[in-house]
Amino acid sequence: MKMKDNDILIASFRNKCRADHLKITPQRIAIYRELIKSKDHPSASVIYLKAKKLFPDISFDTVNRTLLTFHEIGIVTLVEGYGEPKRFDPDTKPHHHFRCIKCNDIIDVHHKSFDNLKIPEEIRRQYKVLNKRVVIEGFCEKCGKKLLA
Ligand SMILES: [Zn+2]
Ligand SMILES: [Zn+2]
Repeated sequence: MKMKDNDILIASFRNKCRADHLKITPQRIAIYRELIKSKDHPSASVIYLKAKKLFPDISFDTVNRTLLTFHEIGIVTLVEGYGEPKRFDPDTKPHHHFRCIKCNDIIDVHHKSFDNLKIPEEIRRQYKVLNKRVVIEGFCEKCGKKLLA
């Protein structure tokens, strides 16, 4: 993502905060900035370590709560974790994931045919569907290479 895109994201972040009456603090902006800079669906502890460099007094709890609040107002999404710490995704537009079962990397995947997947009628009737995402699992390039070595 180019810097310009990040500026657009920050601007819409500010708008969303205002709309939801969430105070825009330098800490919150910094947390969001770190989030959109990371392309690897970071956990709260990863963001905490980055935010701590800018705000040495910030606590893990503050960072974690901030991320959960971002999730509540729809600025970030929570991505599938399997009993590990929650991971956050600043990209709320439709996209899909490749998840490495070895190193737990979550990599964005974009494909029109996945975006256009239709939810079957009986599932729509039974559940209230909020979101759909294709998750492909396997070994990432790095881990795949190690398997062959
Ligand atoms: Zn891997
Ligand atoms: Zn993603």
